[in-house]
Amino acid sequence: MTDKPSRNEEEFFALKEAELLKARRAEAGREQAEAERKTHYMKCPKCGFDLKTEEYHGLEVDRCTQCAGVWFDAGEAEELLDGEHDSMFHSVFGAVLRGVRGKATTK
Ligand SMILES: [Zn+2]
Repeated sequence: MTDKPSRNEEEFFALKEAELLKARRAEAGREQAEAERKTHYMKCPKCGFDLKTEEYHGLEVDRCTQCAGVWFDAGEAEELLDGEHDSMFHSVFGAVLRGVRGKATTK
């Protein structure tokens, strides 16, 4: 019996195996990243409890069920400010937002 693979065949299979291993590792990495993302999705960045989508001044915001923190999606804070011009909320929150923007532009 001479079914021992030739040197070329050995190399071929070693290469195939390495490719397969690489693909499997990439797949495992994606799965891990996805699992990691799921553990953070709709969780409060401050305390880690669940966020619940609520309507606030006509906008959808995510409010924490534990610490009652409110989180805005992109553009929502600006939209909210457009609707409120002379409230205490507007002046305070507007200043915060300007501060955030200022930091972002000086980067
Ligand atoms: Zn919270």
